[in-house]
Amino acid sequence: MSLNPFVEFIKAFQFPYKNRELISRYQLRKLQEIVHHAYENVPFYRQKYHGIDLTMSSLEDIQKLPVVTSRELRKCRIEELTSEKANPQQLLEMASAGTSGSPLRVKISKKENTLRQLNLLRFMLGYGWVPWWKVVYLTREIPHEKYSFFQKLINKKKFDVDIHQPIEKQVRQIKKIKPQLLNGMPTGIEQIADWLIDHEEHLPGLRLLNTGGEVKKEHHVEKFNKAFGMPGLQRYGAWELGIMGYSCTHCHELCINERAFLAEVVDDSYISVKNGEQGKVLFTALNQYTTPLIRYETGDLITLSGSQDHCKTTYLHFKSIDGRDVDVLPLKDGRKLHAQNLLHAALNINGLKKIQLLLKKDGSLLVKYIVDNAISDETVRQEVIEVMHLEELDVNFERCSEIPNEPSGKYKFLKME
Ligand SMILES: [Zn+2]
Repeated sequence: MSLNPFVEFIKAFQFPYKNRELISRYQLRKLQEIVHHAYENVPFYRQKYHGIDLTMSSLEDIQKLPVVTSRELRKCRIEELTSEKANPQQLLEMASAGTSGSPLRVKISKKENTLRQLNLLRFMLGYGWVPWWKVVYLTREIPHEKYSFFQKLINKKKFDVDIHQPIEKQVRQIKKIKPQLLNGMPTGIEQIADWLIDHEEHLPGLRLLNTGGEVKKEHHVEKFNKAFGMPGLQRYGAWELGIMGYSCTHCHELCINERAFLAEVVDDSYISVKNGEQGKVLFTALNQYTTPLIRYETGDLITLSGSQDHCKTTYLHFKSIDGRDVDVLPLKDGRKLHAQNLLHAALNINGLKKIQLLLKKDGSLLVKYIVDNAISDETVRQEVIEVMHLEELDVNFERCSEIPNEPSGKYKFLKME
């Protein structure tokens, strides 16, 4: 059970090319290990799995285990989530940025953290990154976190460009730096792309475009191709899990890191969906022993790739991430709310089954929702306003029995009239 991040780093390079049987065998062994470890050493799981048959004789047996949500983790004390076997001297504490209520706090070991950084390094190396590249981050705030050795390595020549500035100023700054790598959220990079296209300018020397934090959509890819001559990479991660997936270097769909994660894509009744279908994703972190996350529901809706054998790698592929549909909601009072934060906040509302925000032309907001019958409209409405910080707005509510998906079949959390 001891984790050697460097051995793991090396082994992970070839793993995507192994046959499925070998990958499944590896995952089953890791699953058995992590489930028993969690039950024996983590108070939260000891209680949660009480009375459940934990024999995992095949990967399907994972369905015997209950799903874990961030809502229930938030209610626990950090000690209940942390392995009793972990050495307190070797732990780092992490917390969600938290737009509402109590943030989620988890601990990871220094070794686990190193492995996360090495995963990032492997991903960057796969895309041709080299340490002497100049890197620009389009950011909303200057990050205050302490960088690890590997982050420092990747960010050795790192420059921050503040996205609150006028676009032209941002472009001038980027052109002066001449980065090989440009990082940012798709909506931030989109503004730069629009400006470049309108002014027929380019970013000479740019080799790689990396996006994260939001869902990259087809219109982004079109604009990025036009403005930068490349579609841009996507990294799919969550701070409590690490990097779960990345743009595949062979087929450009989202490739799930199955060495570190067992992913399940299920419908509302937690039954696995088929290739090409949409569902919610559950992740089991196979290398996270300090705070095990088993069948952890991230809140993301994804669409599975139409075929899982189109690629040189044998890893699971997602066609798209749909649910973390991160449009920005521009409010009358000048604030911009990120749908991702709103959706995550909404997941904490008791009994809420589905929700959709519609921004009307007059600037008011219509909130459509489906809840358990037992819960009163008053309670839901108060909670929505509170967790989403909508106090200052003109909000109307509509309780629905159904919120239809888009014609494409995708659920859209945020819509504009
Ligand atoms: Zn692929």
